[in-house]
Amino acid sequence: MCDVAPASAVHFQALAVCHWIQEAVHGAAERGLAPPPYALESAEAMNDFRSIGMPAEGGGSDIGRKALWVVRELGLPAIVKACVCGRSARHHPTGKFRVNANGKLLDVWMLICCEMCGRTSKIPIHERIYVQALQSERLLMFENNDPAMVRDLAMDGALAGKAGYQLDWSGTWELETGMRSCEPGREDPAPLEVIIRFELPAPIRVEKLLTAGFGLSRSAVRGMVDSGRIRLPMAIDAKAREDFTLFVITTPPPSRDAAADQEACP
Ligand SMILES: [Zn+2]
Repeated sequence: MCDVAPASAVHFQALAVCHWIQEAVHGAAERGLAPPPYALESAEAMNDFRSIGMPAEGGGSDIGRKALWVVRELGLPAIVKACVCGRSARHHPTGKFRVNANGKLLDVWMLICCEMCGRTSKIPIHERIYVQALQSERLLMFENNDPAMVRDLAMDGALAGKAGYQLDWSGTWELETGMRSCEPGREDPAPLEVIIRFELPAPIRVEKLLTAGFGLSRSAVRGMVDSGRIRLPMAIDAKAREDFTLFVITTPPPSRDAAADQEACP
């Protein structure tokens, strides 16, 4: 069978959650920005929303209306390339490297195995490189089958392009959302700042993060982005793969209905 390099262990502490974000976001969606029947249509998104948790490290309560969403790492992407078995093109790292010395030249490969037949094949990392051109620490990592090096290379899109394979990121992550703090009874809520932190560089469409994070439909989040209620640093159709911050504006200043738009913390 195929020995797969372990995913990093994840520990977090679930904390009590303020419902303000849910009400604010769903409320905004229902107030004419998107058809209400669609607001709650995604069972998957709602499940994600219910499993709200906060990392233990984010325990501060001094900052208001901040939320932290974490793209948790569940595993490494599959390496998609042809296998002689022809039954599957998905491969996983075995967790090992092979280093071959030939005079002053080195070859370094990362070993991977086919998900279906278990055959081991190799991906060239360095080919006929001069020994002195390779940092000794890096060579040591290869020789010791360093797990961090395996992880980095298994997620390396540039290596994939160079070696001619694709990365399949499906199933490698899950979104964990959490409300940092809330201020009950505040009359004029500040914009909600949502920090999205990536544990792994999985390319994820921003729209997918929003629907999963807010538990809203695609049309609802698109409506909120179009109206400026959700402010993004990139296009909603873009793929994010590293940390960014978005804002949810709950009370647009020009509107006379602004007061009615507010939702108090329970
Ligand atoms: Zn195979």
